[in-house]
Amino acid sequence: MPFVFQKNCVKKKLCFKKRLKLTAMQEKYDYIIIGAGSAGCVLANRLSEDPNNKVLLVEAGGPDKNRYIHIPAGCAKLHKTEVDWGFETEPQEHILNRKLYLPRGKTLGGCSSTNYMAYVRGNKEDYNDWAALGNEGWTYEEVLPYFKKSEHNEDIKNDYHEQGGPLNVGFSKTFNTPYGQIFIDACKEAGFKENKDYNGAEQAGAGFFQNTIKKGKRDSAAVAFLNPVKNRKNLTILTHTLTKKVIIENEVAVGIEILKGSNSEVIRCNQEVIISAGSFNSPQILMLSGIGDKAELQEHGIDCIKELPGVGKNLQDHLMYFLGGSTKKQDAQNHHLTIPNQVLDLANYMLRKKGALTMGPLESVAFGSTELSPNRVDYQFHFAALNMGENSESDLYDINTLPTTDGVSVLPTLLRPKSRGYVKLRSNKVQDKVIIQPNFLEAEEDRKVLLEAGKKAIEILKTKAFSEVIDKHYQPITNYSDEALTQHFLENIETVFHPVGTCKMGQDDMAVVDERLRVKGIANLRVIDASIMPQIVSGNTNAPTIMIGEKGAAMILQDAQSTTTKEEATADLLTDLNTLRLTNKEKMNRED
Ligand SMILES: Cc1cc2nc3c(=O)[nH]c(=O)nc-3n(C[C@H](O)[C@H](O)[C@H](O)COP(=O)(O)OP(=O)(O)OC[C@H]3O[C@@H](n4cnc5c(N)ncnc54)[C@H](O)[C@@H]3O)c2cc1C
Repeated sequence: MPFVFQKNCVKKKLCFKKRLKLTAMQEKYDYIIIGAGSAGCVLANRLSEDPNNKVLLVEAGGPDKNRYIHIPAGCAKLHKTEVDWGFETEPQEHILNRKLYLPRGKTLGGCSSTNYMAYVRGNKEDYNDWAALGNEGWTYEEVLPYFKKSEHNEDIKNDYHEQGGPLNVGFSKTFNTPYGQIFIDACKEAGFKENKDYNGAEQAGAGFFQNTIKKGKRDSAAVAFLNPVKNRKNLTILTHTLTKKVIIENEVAVGIEILKGSNSEVIRCNQEVIISAGSFNSPQILMLSGIGDKAELQEHGIDCIKELPGVGKNLQDHLMYFLGGSTKKQDAQNHHLTIPNQVLDLANYMLRKKGALTMGPLESVAFGSTELSPNRVDYQFHFAALNMGENSESDLYDINTLPTTDGVSVLPTLLRPKSRGYVKLRSNKVQDKVIIQPNFLEAEEDRKVLLEAGKKAIEILKTKAFSEVIDKHYQPITNYSDEALTQHFLENIETVFHPVGTCKMGQDDMAVVDERLRVKGIANLRVIDASIMPQIVSGNTNAPTIMIGEKGAAMILQDAQSTTTKEEATADLLTDLNTLRLTNKEKMNRED
């Protein structure tokens, strides 16, 4: 049942809620944003800053009330729940035909409410590459101000960081195991340099993760960008509301059709519709609206309004697997999984906002290069002081299957995959999840990077720093062969939940949006979320998506300003012409 969250209406009576709900449907908005995820929340905040803009934010999921959202360690308990879309891939030919699970947040905040809270911007060259593809305005130098605009960095004060923005970023001060530092020491032993700010001057090296956590609580995009402004009179938030399609008349977006129970309703807008439904659902909404590959749309009986064959194509994601072992001491994270320890941790959390619950599983990180890319990082190590189990019996998405004896894991992660996949409609119904075919590891180079990164991870796990604390290395670490390591990663590999690229920005025939994120050939329609990345960034994707939201909002406001100015200029010109005409007439009359 759709529920309107506006002007403190939660506290009011149901009949008042119903009245507001009707009002929301009947209103005409300036901007309609589809999807309250990382990008959507930023857009809702920035576009409603001007009280003259009437903004509607439409979210398929509910309010972010699940308590595990806000307790950082609770992220492990959100998989396959009501706040997760729970997608999965088609069988992956190059990964033993496995279907990989793809979690996606379905609540206010989207994935930023369910993610692991690592704050990573990627590599400067990622953005310079986007600009080199013809996307003016997207060099690193040009996007940096938008990263900084969002940020309140608790710890780092330099040219790359900012204080005072809505999104809290910082190192963990409330919980650390000894292994975060041991991992950094081990990396140094294996030839990495220490890097205290991988979001700064240089990305390569090993250091502690920066996190989007504030005083022991998750700082999602909803908490940081939506909560402080949700009572603005010009902002309406509809939750539990699925957008079916965008209404397009004469190649202009004029509103959206939403699903309310089994009934459809139309909401209209004056200015722009912005799709921010994430990399799987944004292309779905475009296709259901008649924008995409003509033949594919026809297969589902959808009239093609605008042929854009790139919609849903160019899907890219990061992949990771784990290597590790058990530790001699019980001072990592697994022993916190026992019931008595969970009770103690909860008490510590409730009373002091301290302890194991104030952190996600990720403690430290390293970025490195294989010989395939000597001058630019091509892999990442996520490090967790967590024993992922010995025999592939643990399900990473069900913490009840993890051992309760402590251990550590290094997760080699493919950062710049060459394989490309696609998202396709399963049917012409928005309720039917799209078909997701990432073609993981189709490119030989992707396997090589994973193998080389795995070998380096093994070297790290065998350093003096780790040897002193590890009790037993799990296979295939001791006397491994390339074949054994490859088999291990094929059996265990998972995505890092960073799908991007399915509505790519660019100038070529497969581009879906231009450099101002406007859908090609349709006026008043933009896509603003992770799906617009032409190439995946070399790092976790939440911070880059928030930056895209910031830059997208700024472009919308600039364009509205210049349209107003153009309209004003035309009006001025017409007045001038009329005056001139009158003066000429008067002159002629006088001459007569
Ligand atoms: C489990 C997990 C862990 C992750 N860990 C990290 C991490 O530690 N660090 C990091 O940087 N990144 C991480 N990520 C990735 C990062 O969070 C995402 O890349 C980013 O949040 C994507 O933002 P988005 O705005 O593109 O989409 P989303 O945040 O997915 O937002 C899309 C929103 O649109 C809504 N929606 C979809 N369809 C419709 C519709 N038809 N009608 C109305 N609403 C709709 C969705 O419910 C959702 O709220 C993780 C992701 C996951 C899932």
